[in-house]
Amino acid sequence: MKAMVLREYNQPLRLEEVEVPKIGAGELLVRVKACGVCASNLKYVREPADYITLPHILGHEPAGEVVEVGPNVEGFVRGDRVCLYIFVTCRECLYCTTGQENSCLQQRRIGHELPGAYAEYVKVPAWNAFKIPDAISFEEAGGIADAMVTSYHAVREKAQVRVGEDIAVMGVGGLGSNAVQLARLAGCRVIAIDITPRKLEFARTLGADETINAQTGGVAERIRAMTKGKGVDVFFDYVGTRDSMKAGLHCLRRGGKFVLVGHEPDHDFQAKTFQEIIMEEVEIIGSHASTRNEMQAVLKLIQDGKIRPIIGAVYPLAEANEAHRALETEEILGRIVLVP
Ligand SMILES: [Zn+2]
Ligand SMILES: [Zn+2]
Repeated sequence: MKAMVLREYNQPLRLEEVEVPKIGAGELLVRVKACGVCASNLKYVREPADYITLPHILGHEPAGEVVEVGPNVEGFVRGDRVCLYIFVTCRECLYCTTGQENSCLQQRRIGHELPGAYAEYVKVPAWNAFKIPDAISFEEAGGIADAMVTSYHAVREKAQVRVGEDIAVMGVGGLGSNAVQLARLAGCRVIAIDITPRKLEFARTLGADETINAQTGGVAERIRAMTKGKGVDVFFDYVGTRDSMKAGLHCLRRGGKFVLVGHEPDHDFQAKTFQEIIMEEVEIIGSHASTRNEMQAVLKLIQDGKIRPIIGAVYPLAEANEAHRALETEEILGRIVLVP
């Protein structure tokens, strides 16, 4: 099969012929029809991560068609259209047995510890596969497993947003755009923040009530003004730079929540002082990927027509490097997907 292979850091991925994965008991072989392009993949190309061994195939947001069903698999047949949950876990530990698979200490992830879906085929335990609604294209399904479900986890499970709350979303990219949709669906007033006017207009089409261009500074002050001095109930940071975190931590109401979803690795966390955290009773919350149940919940919301994956661009698999470049340098509205 063809795959885009990471052989050396800081070098373009290479289109290579590699062996089709062989499946065993409980597994499915999936012909990849689309795979979301996550910003984290740009980091993995650049620098070593201790959970990636070269040569490696990236891609953790696959959708495709079941082409082979291993022994002891129930509920799937050849031809089923599926998208895949990222975490392959032990299914026995404290976290797995309480529906927190994203925290399993034995976890291996598609496109991280395991080979990913920048390829024509990927194998997974059947446990990781979810059938997708007929109304959703493969390209759209390539923007569900991470871009959409990660935001669902942040908005619904970690922040537990409520009707009428004031919510800020910093960064209207592949993930943040879905946070805007979900917070709006939950009945919140949504303030979207980005550095490009095009993305802010896009956020309005997704239901944002207010927008702020962070390029011109003063984000925290403007949020305070928009909330009549109160501050937001929840600030979702999909950017994770020193500036975005500082803005987020300084525009919360007392008892507000700062939810960190995206992060730039190279800076110290600029928190409030311990005294401020106590006096203001703010909550600082990390939100990492999603649980398996949340895949099902998001697919139901899509099936019910409440939310829709937003695909900003489609690239052929062989142009994965160009897709990475576009994600970094262009104003893509929604998720980029690769199509083998
Ligand atoms: Zn990702
Ligand atoms: Zn586990």
